[in-house]
Amino acid sequence: MPSTGTVHLVGAGPGDPDLLTLKALRLIAHADVIVHDRLVSDAVLSLANPRAVLIDVGKRPKCHTLPQEAINRLLIEQARAGRMVVRLKGGDPFVFGRGGEEAMDLAAAGIACEVVPGITAAQGAAASLGVPLTHRGVAEHVTYLTGHCRADTPLDFDFAKLADPNGTLVVYMGLATIGEMAARLIDNGLDAETPVLVVERATTSGERHHLSALGRVAAETQALGFEGPTLFVIGRVA
Ligand code: SAH
Repeated sequence: MPSTGTVHLVGAGPGDPDLLTLKALRLIAHADVIVHDRLVSDAVLSLANPRAVLIDVGKRPKCHTLPQEAINRLLIEQARAGRMVVRLKGGDPFVFGRGGEEAMDLAAAGIACEVVPGITAAQGAAASLGVPLTHRGVAEHVTYLTGHCRADTPLDFDFAKLADPNGTLVVYMGLATIGEMAARLIDNGLDAETPVLVVERATTSGERHHLSALGRVAAETQALGFEGPTLFVIGRVA
């Protein structure tokens, strides 16, 4: 059950509030303080107790509203003040969410932390579009990748390994780098006609998608003006 002095690191899922876990719903409804990201939908935030304090620490690409250290300090202060704190993150807190860093900082400060998993964007998008991430005889494995690298360094993956026609790749935070990613995969042998499903704001009322192919995905994504949270699902399952 929710307890004061603890930080609950909660996954808010991909947007549709019906995709919250029951535990997330209970914690959101009981929290004194909710520290959330830009990715957390208004529909989910509307489930908070009306008396709860909502703090938006939303990060936009290349423009951090609050530095990570300040977020961690805020969580520690709020928990030490005896409040029931929910740190609410889009999708799953441990999938490209820096949840691990927050959990380690809380542990170092002696603050109890409970992690509540959420449905990650890849699973939300896959279900919403009816695209299985693995499929017998078509995709034997699935890999989640980030297109956003530390301090804008170039993508540093083992592309020879990733360029496997029998697998699915899901690229998070890839709008700026999908062209480079696609080119490297093609250079390493993946067919330029490999399907790529581009999904923006999956599971929300603003969801849209476009079926493209590796050789044209960068140009088409740009031409179609995708700019919200967007995933790329690369592989024959698409
Ligand atoms: N922890 C989150 C991911 C955070 S990284 C999770 O598990 O889903 C942020 C990236 O997630 C975005 O740039 C986008 O690539 C992806 N994303 C999050 N929500 C999304 C949504 N509803 N639709 C499409 N992509 C989404």
